[in-house]
Amino acid sequence: MNEWKQRVETDMMRTFAMTQALFVRGEGCWVEDGAGKRYLDFLGGIAVNALGHAHPVMVEAISRQAATLIHVSNYFSTPPQLELAERLKRLTGAGESGRAYFCNSGTEANEAAFKLARLNKGPHGTKYKILSLENSFHGRTMGSLALTGKPALHAGFEPLPGNVEYIESTIEALENAIDDSVAALFVEPIKGEAGVVDLPDGFLEAARRLTAEHGALLIVDEIQTGAGRTGSWFGFQRAGIVPDAITLAKGIGGGVPIGALVTFGHASELFSPGQHGSTFGGNPLATATANAVLGEIEDAGLVENARVRGEQLRALIAAIDSPLILETRGAGLLVGIGLAKPVAPAVVRAALELGLVINAPNDRSIRLAPPLIIGEAELAEFDSRFRAALAAAA
Ligand SMILES: *Cc1c(COP(=O)(O)O)cnc(C)c1O
Repeated sequence: MNEWKQRVETDMMRTFAMTQALFVRGEGCWVEDGAGKRYLDFLGGIAVNALGHAHPVMVEAISRQAATLIHVSNYFSTPPQLELAERLKRLTGAGESGRAYFCNSGTEANEAAFKLARLNKGPHGTKYKILSLENSFHGRTMGSLALTGKPALHAGFEPLPGNVEYIESTIEALENAIDDSVAALFVEPIKGEAGVVDLPDGFLEAARRLTAEHGALLIVDEIQTGAGRTGSWFGFQRAGIVPDAITLAKGIGGGVPIGALVTFGHASELFSPGQHGSTFGGNPLATATANAVLGEIEDAGLVENARVRGEQLRALIAAIDSPLILETRGAGLLVGIGLAKPVAPAVVRAALELGLVINAPNDRSIRLAPPLIIGEAELAEFDSRFRAALAAAA
């Protein structure tokens, strides 16, 4: 066993499986291990490294803010925090009536959204139920875990916060489940952790109509799909709907921990002072970084790049003549590859050996979420390395 693996074995909490490499630095779409071997990063820290590694815009923003003001607590405001709230209101279309709450991770953003949902009690105070989708993923802390529709992840941790009902991802199931007792529906525009699985056509549109009819909040978890990842700023925009709230994390900070809850319209009036909070949430270091990341995504046209490169990436995968590949899923640069046999982990291991970082959310799915800055050169490198990995694992 490598020396570092020995240390992982003895020092790290056993919450994760054994890691497969020790990375020491990165630049652009590449990372390097302790032995100096370079890897093309087509996972991007799970849809986090929107600008790749060591992007000069991020380095500059973090350095400048670190030398200016890192933290003051939420008793006080800071210019980067206010700027980020306004930026998110503009980009999401929440506009004038929108509000932003900042925290430090995706699961925390969903905890805030869960509490928001509990506050939606309805005119007669009778709302108590929350709907979520089977096979969904919303995070690992108790509230977000309760929202997560994967019984295997609940095992050992019950009792979880109650009154969450999991439904099939079909319009029919939603029609059957929704009534006036429902306070909120949580939904991912594309189920990333499930293997990059798309919702059925028209699902978000139907969800918007049905939740509005029953006074339930439509809360869209954009933690993986947000910040340009799908070729739109946010996944819900592809359906042309307006939700009541969205949760954000992963890509918006480009790797610096940050999460956010953005509310639209009347949902912006549910929280009152003292009902929720976070010591670190919205600190000037994290929010200045997010402003720089989102600003660069805008200035460099990276939402459009995600759309165009995503199409090229799909075309390139479709051109691989392998009986192993069944389909591609997802949108933009969030790509799921469905395999005919449960060999995804073997493909991922072979790829790593060949200097390509990808991931297997399950046995039959490969996930790609490269930095939004990828170009032709990275696509060509991916093509040859991925073909070799498939051949090695077949
Ligand atoms: C990653 C993810 C989360 C959890 O985010 P963390 O920052 O890991 O807590 C929640 N929802 C979705 C859709 C995610 O992809």
